[in-house]
Amino acid sequence: MLTNIEEIYRDALSELQNAGTLDDVEAFSVKYLGRKGLVTLYLRGLSALPPDERPLAGKRSNEVKIALEEAVAKIRTEMEAKAEGADEGIDVTLPGRMAAAGRLHPLTQITLEICGIFTKLGFSIVEGPEIESDYYNFEALNIPKHHPARDMQDTFYISESTVLRTHTSPTQPRVMEKQAPPVRIIAPGKVYRCDSDITHTPMFHQVEGLLVDENVSFGDLKGILTTFVHQMFDAETSLRFRPSFFPFTEPSAEVDIRCVICRGKGCRVCSQTGWLEVLGAGMVHPAVFENVGYDTKKYTGFAFGMGVERITMLKYGIDDIRKYFENDFRFLRQF
Ligand SMILES: [Zn+2]
Repeated sequence: MLTNIEEIYRDALSELQNAGTLDDVEAFSVKYLGRKGLVTLYLRGLSALPPDERPLAGKRSNEVKIALEEAVAKIRTEMEAKAEGADEGIDVTLPGRMAAAGRLHPLTQITLEICGIFTKLGFSIVEGPEIESDYYNFEALNIPKHHPARDMQDTFYISESTVLRTHTSPTQPRVMEKQAPPVRIIAPGKVYRCDSDITHTPMFHQVEGLLVDENVSFGDLKGILTTFVHQMFDAETSLRFRPSFFPFTEPSAEVDIRCVICRGKGCRVCSQTGWLEVLGAGMVHPAVFENVGYDTKKYTGFAFGMGVERITMLKYGIDDIRKYFENDFRFLRQF
C-alpha cells in the first residue's frame, strides 16, 4: 500500500508540471483531490489495511494530500497574477495623464480686471466687512429705519443692529470717517440679499466706487465711467444715463451700455431694447457727507456701484447666474 501512494504522488507531480492553463490545474485538482479523486479514494481505502500498517500509511497519505493542495494553490496564484498583468499591460505610446492646473474663477478674473482699470485711474482698493452694522449699511447712507428704501433690498438680519451687508456702499462712510478728502477708492466684495432665481443669487459680488474732492461734477462721473466701459468692453460701446433714485446719491442715474451682443439692434439679452443696464451711480448726497463730518460747501463727490456677475455675464455671454456657483469644473475651466 505504501508504494501505491508514492506512485500516485510521483504521477501527480509530473502531471502538475505540465499544467499550462488554469483549466489544466482545475482538472488536476478534481482528478487527485476531488471527492472521487485518487488521493481521496486512497485515504478512504486505508481502513482495509491491517491495523498495524494503518498509522504509517495514514500519516504519509495525509502528507501527500497537503503537499498537493499547497502545490495547486501556488500554481493557481501564479497563473492568476500572470493573467491580471496581461490586462494591465502598459501602452507606452499613450499620452500621459496631466494633472489639471487650477485657475482663477471667472468672477475673480473680472473683479481683478475692474480693479485694474480703476487703479490705473488713480483709485485705491479698500475692503469692508461682510457682517455689517445696520448703521453703516443703512443709516450712514441716508436710509433711516422705516425708510421705504429699505424695502428695495431683502436684507438678511443677524440681529436687530447687525446685517449681512446688502451692498458694498457701507465702505463709503467707513472710509470717509477716517480720511479727509480727497478720497478716490473702489471697494470690491461679496454682498447678500434674500433672493434666488435665474438672475439672482443670495450672495453676489459688487464693486463700489467713490471719489470726493473740490469741484467734482457729474461730468467727471461721466468721464470716469465712459473710460471704464471703453476699457472693459471696447471703445465703440456707448453709454446712456437714465434718471433714477438711490437714497445716498442726488441726482442719481442708472447707466446703460449699448448691447454688447447685438450692438443695439435688439436681441433676447437686451429684451430687444438695444441697451443693457450695468451700473448705478450719482453725486454723493449731502446727508451722507454730514454723517461723516465733511464740509458740504467745500466738497462734492460721486459714487457708483456695479454687479460683477452682470459684467461677467455680458463679457462672456453666460445666460444663467447660478452657473458661477455650481463649481462645475467643465464650466469653470473655459475661462
Ligand atoms: Zn442686444
